[in-house]
Amino acid sequence: MAVRMTVLASGSRGNSTVLSSSKTSILVDAGLSCRETIKRMTAAGEDPLALKGIVITHEHSDHVSGLNVLARKLRIPVYMTGATHDAWRKWTRSLGPRRKQETENGSKARIEQLELFKSGSSFQIGDIEVMPFTIPHDAVDPVGFTFKIDGVKIGICTDIGHMTENVRYYLRACDGLMIESNHDLEMLRGGPYPWSVKQRVMSAVGHLSNDALAKFFTDDYDGGAAFVMLAHLSENNNHPELARVCAEQALEPRRSLLASNVLKLALQDVPTETITL
Ligand SMILES: [Zn+2]
Ligand SMILES: [Zn+2]
Repeated sequence: MAVRMTVLASGSRGNSTVLSSSKTSILVDAGLSCRETIKRMTAAGEDPLALKGIVITHEHSDHVSGLNVLARKLRIPVYMTGATHDAWRKWTRSLGPRRKQETENGSKARIEQLELFKSGSSFQIGDIEVMPFTIPHDAVDPVGFTFKIDGVKIGICTDIGHMTENVRYYLRACDGLMIESNHDLEMLRGGPYPWSVKQRVMSAVGHLSNDALAKFFTDDYDGGAAFVMLAHLSENNNHPELARVCAEQALEPRRSLLASNVLKLALQDVPTETITL
């Protein structure tokens, strides 16, 4: 089996995904506590000590809250852009003493093995080729990733306010695709969030709705993935079944096109089953 992928958690309370080749394992985002990350990895049959690096999409706390402790404990490099690193340091300095201790375990917020990358320039971690690309989101320098492992291409792209030409370009010809299906527009409009937050989520640099994702599937998606994983579902403004039905309807004509496009859902509190390609 060339590639394994397990989404440990996905949503506004924490995001983290393990991706492995037969030789290399990496973590995409570290939005769970160190303890929870290790617990969920172990339950999924992935060895935390085998991790060779952590790649970070952007500095929002649901993607980095466990980063410092995890990187220190496992003594592995962290890959992010320079601007994201600056914003992350600023964020750790802004935390109150109690949060600071929870987040940093009393240690200084400093990444010991920092590897900076630039959006649009690929780099290698073991036998995994990582390509970061710019996404539209209200962080300083947010990216999505594609990964190439033994000729298999996996795309991971959440926290996108809208579909851009750039995102569409990089997500072409994926063999596996994890993509945001954040909210149902009606639920968001009528839901409990203050108007300012609703506006932020709906904005061009917020999060992708079920309908916007369906439009991508209908208009632009090439249909080549063996699996499509819906991710970063809102717990307040979406329902897994709503997201699933919306995507299913849009994917149906694509299903026989090139690949099976088996639909999966990544949730907040339980890891997904491990997908192998
Ligand atoms: Zn997020
Ligand atoms: Zn975000």
